[in-house]
Amino acid sequence: MPTRPLLTLLLTLSLSGALIAQDNAAARAARQWRQQHERAIVDEFVELLKIPNVARDRENIRRNADFIVAMMRRRGIEARTISVDGANPLAFGEIKTPGATRTIVFYAHYDGQPLEPREWTTPPWEPTLRTAAIDAGGQVIPLPPAGTPFNPEWRLYARSASDDKAPIIAQMAAIDAIRAANIPLKSNIKFVFEGEEEAGSANLVKMLEANKALLSGDIWLMCDGPVHQTRRPLIYFGARDVVTFEITVYGPKNELHSGHYGNWAHNPAMVLSKLLASMKDDKGRVVVDRFYDGIVPLSATERRAIAEAPEIDAQLMREFWLGSTEGAPKKLLELITQPSFNIRGLSSSHVGTQANNVVPTTATASIDIRLVKGMDPARTLDRVVDHIRKQGFFVTEQEPTADVRMAHPLVLRLTRQRVGLGAVRTSMDLPISQEVIRVVESVRGPTIKLPNMGGSLPLAEVEIPLGTRTIEIPIVNHDNRQHSSDENLRIQNLWDGIELMAGLLAM
Ligand SMILES: [Zn+2]
Repeated sequence: MPTRPLLTLLLTLSLSGALIAQDNAAARAARQWRQQHERAIVDEFVELLKIPNVARDRENIRRNADFIVAMMRRRGIEARTISVDGANPLAFGEIKTPGATRTIVFYAHYDGQPLEPREWTTPPWEPTLRTAAIDAGGQVIPLPPAGTPFNPEWRLYARSASDDKAPIIAQMAAIDAIRAANIPLKSNIKFVFEGEEEAGSANLVKMLEANKALLSGDIWLMCDGPVHQTRRPLIYFGARDVVTFEITVYGPKNELHSGHYGNWAHNPAMVLSKLLASMKDDKGRVVVDRFYDGIVPLSATERRAIAEAPEIDAQLMREFWLGSTEGAPKKLLELITQPSFNIRGLSSSHVGTQANNVVPTTATASIDIRLVKGMDPARTLDRVVDHIRKQGFFVTEQEPTADVRMAHPLVLRLTRQRVGLGAVRTSMDLPISQEVIRVVESVRGPTIKLPNMGGSLPLAEVEIPLGTRTIEIPIVNHDNRQHSSDENLRIQNLWDGIELMAGLLAM
């Protein structure tokens, strides 16, 4: 729940859709259509949300894909599923526009995060309307009868109501509206709806490579994730990539009495702490040699976009109970355009009531590095390993034997986890980027534009096999409890999303 300052900011900055003078015919048509068909739009959405959608549930995944293909076919869109062995299918649709010289691909995913039904207030695959968010006292209400408008602050609760079935329904409603208003399309349109994004998109590259001509276009618009915390519309032009690994350092074979051996045997928790501390300076800068090499600097347009974005650092610090931030005075939005080196978790022996007076046997740190454009993931990890060696460690990727442990003063085991394809960032200066910005602002008003999001998306997995750039266009509320229990969508975000998708479909 937002603290008071963030809430005040929300109230002052959030523009209700009605206040924005819409300079976009498709978006105006979408609003009119939506106002006349609110109940029908939500009914179709509810049917889609009722189908369980955890990636490993193959039977229901197939039902989702078939349902979405049928949704597209009902609208005259050529549609089918596409798959490779062992993969959850893509639901694919295509509108060929006579005379069009450009193809826009809309991406969303229909699978959702695994869940524990007992943690949900109402069942995850029984979509439920509430008068507000649950933690703001929202009460369950029935869907209003057709012809009665929904309150825009109502929320629809269900797994994937936000992440990521909302864009699918928004795009389908937008197609209906464009057709009803006889607005001609200018581009070829493709829809790609993935069924295993939350399971790591393990087969996406294979499916794209096997269908390169079919799935490529001039741009992929990735419709996933939430809009800004101020509720203002947001466009990302990239994401950070992530490398993950663990390091374990070794002490004695068994835990030793800390009184008898405490300043004689090396303590692995202390050794690991010193090693970790050697990787960053007091300003939060990573001091691993050549860590920042190759980073593509921000352009003037990108710097300007960050400077124009609202600064909510102080509000976020209050919301998260932070007394200071790393890298200050640099702000969050600038820092997420830089790489990070983060300790995800630390473990050595026990604490609390389980603590013993011992010298532990091992200490382990689990680490993630967020990469930005220009950094090579494997080379970055190599540089970290070089740094570890320079601190005097023998580095091995196997569990070290007694002989190995006795042969070296300091022994460290490295376990590689994820090494991805690298971060991508589409230039804001490209004509297609500028056009997307113009369209979004003509529909939704002043829009926050960020060079990249702090988190990671499988963008290189799209760009490398297809040679098609990506731009990220979220529509859902930031407080949607994405990936958690009680996931929900604020109705106004759906309405705004329909108008936004109409504008983009017609561009
Ligand atoms: Zn998602």
